[in-house]
Amino acid sequence: MSHDAAAAPAHVPDKPGVPERECPECGAMTPADPRFVVWCAGCGWNADPLPPEPPQGRLQGRRRRTAARYGEQLYAELARSGPGAPRLDASGVAAHVLAWAVHLSTVAVAVAGVLLITTGGAFALQVLLGAVLLLVVVSLRPRLGRLPKDAVTLRRDTAPGLYALLDRIAAESGTRPVDVVVLDASVNAGVTEYGLRRRRLLVLGLPLWHMLGPQQRVALLGHEFGHYANGDQRRGLVVGTALTTLGTWHHVLRPSGQRGRPVVQIIADLIMVPPWLFVLGLLHLLDHFTLRATQRAEYRADLIGARIGSGAAAAECTDELLLAESVDRELRRQAVLARTRTRASDREDAAAGLWGRLADHARDIPARERERLRRVAELRGHSTDSTHPPTHLRRALLLDTARDLPAAVTLDAAGAAAIDAEIAPAARQAARWTLRDLHL
Ligand SMILES: [Zn+2]
Ligand SMILES: [Zn+2]
Repeated sequence: MSHDAAAAPAHVPDKPGVPERECPECGAMTPADPRFVVWCAGCGWNADPLPPEPPQGRLQGRRRRTAARYGEQLYAELARSGPGAPRLDASGVAAHVLAWAVHLSTVAVAVAGVLLITTGGAFALQVLLGAVLLLVVVSLRPRLGRLPKDAVTLRRDTAPGLYALLDRIAAESGTRPVDVVVLDASVNAGVTEYGLRRRRLLVLGLPLWHMLGPQQRVALLGHEFGHYANGDQRRGLVVGTALTTLGTWHHVLRPSGQRGRPVVQIIADLIMVPPWLFVLGLLHLLDHFTLRATQRAEYRADLIGARIGSGAAAAECTDELLLAESVDRELRRQAVLARTRTRASDREDAAAGLWGRLADHARDIPARERERLRRVAELRGHSTDSTHPPTHLRRALLLDTARDLPAAVTLDAAGAAAIDAEIAPAARQAARWTLRDLHL
């Protein structure tokens, strides 16, 4: 494998000698590379040949429209006056009030259960009902999260170089360091906290990590630490746990709707409908109250990433995210190939170079295809994930407000290569498991 993960991605220009065809809309000649979608940069013909399915149901449709409107409003506001300090606005207060009400109702159910049991005495039915309520409380208790099982983890002692970089970035963003790093196969990265002591976990997607050049990696990590520094509501202890509790209620109360169920169950389902709708309403309300704050947190994390890794690197990083779908498809293809290999040594070879091959795949995507993907993101706006502002607006905000920001933390090619050498054994373990277990 000649792949050098530490080199900055060079954007491949269109190959000379690619056949051309005439655009059916405007008549301009457009390159027709058989490996990619043929489209016209002049009039936009066929830029998005397979638009996603329209949203299911009115609620989801409305959520997307609201999210798109918020994203645009926030963009305009932030481009005008900068991100400002994180603050709790009216909807943030409403979200907290609602979340506390959810937690108090869990306490109320627990108290009722205990009272039923202690005063039940000889009434077996009452004691039983109390026990059922306590069981319900056990499944409703606020979940603090835990370290994922069967994850490839990197501890401080095995990856001192990586942790040294993470600590520098944490200090620069004014927040405490992470306790553990988990490696996975996503074209993404993320942070959470878990357990009562709120230990910090950074999830690093190996394909994305290898697609990025050294300084882009710093910008990515700066973005993630930006989420810690922001105190993101949805991840917060009060609101985050209320969302999971409501999710459990929703799951428990949801009518089965099965055909041919017995009459008793139909009646039981009908009784469940009003509380289920009530919980659904609460979920939507909490979602509505936090949506704007979540999007604002995302923009703000971008700007922190720019301050730490430089404005240019942060913008390039959002560009790489547009390649996620293509890289994901390539990962699936690699997994299919690897599973056809019978010799153990062949399978080991497949695992050894996996992340580098995915990075090569991304690097081979020509500038013209990248431009098309950028336009697709713009055309689709929020259609994939409404908690994030659209990628093109994130990129635009970075270019508008942070283009010339210098890096506060720098990483050179040698430093990046040293980190890659450190994490190589764990990355290979993650590759083995991914090729074996990836759901195709
Ligand atoms: Zn055209
Ligand atoms: Zn983010």
